[in-house]
Amino acid sequence: MSNIIAIDGPSGAGKSSVSRIVGERLGYLHVDSGALYRIMTWQSLVHGVDLESPAAIAAFAETVDIECRPEAGHIAYYVGGEAPGDRIRTPEINANASKVAREKPVRDKVTAILKGMTRFGNLVVEGRDITTAVFPDTPARFYLTASAEARAVRRQKEEVEKGIANQTAEAVKASLLARDAIDSTRKYAPLRKADGALEIDSSDLTLEEVVETVMKALPAEWIAS
Ligand code: C5P
Repeated sequence: MSNIIAIDGPSGAGKSSVSRIVGERLGYLHVDSGALYRIMTWQSLVHGVDLESPAAIAAFAETVDIECRPEAGHIAYYVGGEAPGDRIRTPEINANASKVAREKPVRDKVTAILKGMTRFGNLVVEGRDITTAVFPDTPARFYLTASAEARAVRRQKEEVEKGIANQTAEAVKASLLARDAIDSTRKYAPLRKADGALEIDSSDLTLEEVVETVMKALPAEWIAS
């Protein structure tokens, strides 16, 4: 059986950096579940699906084929043999991902893909519903959060560094808050802190401090082995 470290939290809380480093230290594969919802959104837009129509989103979701491959410490995704790259990190995808992710057929599809990844071995999985819906029984569950200001500053810096967009911190914050609102109020698997998950507020912590907090809270035998 695989060991699963599950990390949920709102956008920009630092889940990706923390998951990547914890994965590297333990030799666990990093799984970015948000990228799967982004791919579903990107493909829907490419194929002209009406995102105001839940039925259209549901019907299209069935047709999307995402290939998952373990690669250099993480699970890489391919659609039609192509890696999506930064095409799933644009402001347009940010603005539409939550609309696609709130539809149950989309969630069921992504959840099944994520559950199937245990075949690849031990995992660090980050997202919004990993601790509550995808792997609720794992003993290593975390809720990583930070103030809206801290999250917006981090995301904006990332976008500028990657050359994806050049939005103001205010615009990035508005986009984050709009997504948080949909993610935490949707009907299926809303973002919330799972009972028993360890909450970490990263607003005033360094990345290393957050990583150490996670590592210390893991079952002792996971660290030793
Ligand atoms: O984590 P990231 O910002 O890339 O996620 C993009 C969107 O995908 C989120 O805003 C959310 O709507 C959705 N998501 C989700 N459940 C997850 C991961 C992401 O609904 N486990």
